Amino acid sequence: MNCKCSELADLFYLADAPVDFESSLIEKAVGNWVYLKECPQCHQLWRIDAWDKYQIQFALKVSSSEGWEEIDSVPMVKELLLNSRGGATDEICIWAGCNGKRVKGVVYCIDHLYETGVRK
Ligand SMILES: [Zn+2]
Ligand SMILES: [Zn+2]
Repeated sequence: MNCKCSELADLFYLADAPVDFESSLIEKAVGNWVYLKECPQCHQLWRIDAWDKYQIQFALKVSSSEGWEEIDSVPMVKELLLNSRGGATDEICIWAGCNGKRVKGVVYCIDHLYETGVRK
């Protein structure tokens, strides 16, 4: 069976991963609440968040085993969050002084929605 790595987004919710995705990966390194794992078929490296019942886990494609833990995934997480919410509206965020557009269904822009701790 071929792996799905090339079809998967650079960042996605681990809960949305194909069946057996995580279990098929080989652990290469352990960081602070994150793991570096490798696909045994295509050798794609993945940064996988450790399980925590209060946190949403992400899977992130990593190009190198150097500096994998420090990669700033925040901009990508914001984009994923925005897309998962259906995009932005024309209304303005209620945060004082913010001119960002509200994300669908909430009163905050993507930056302030992220600041409230929302990840999905
Ligand atoms: Zn693969
Ligand atoms: Zn805002």
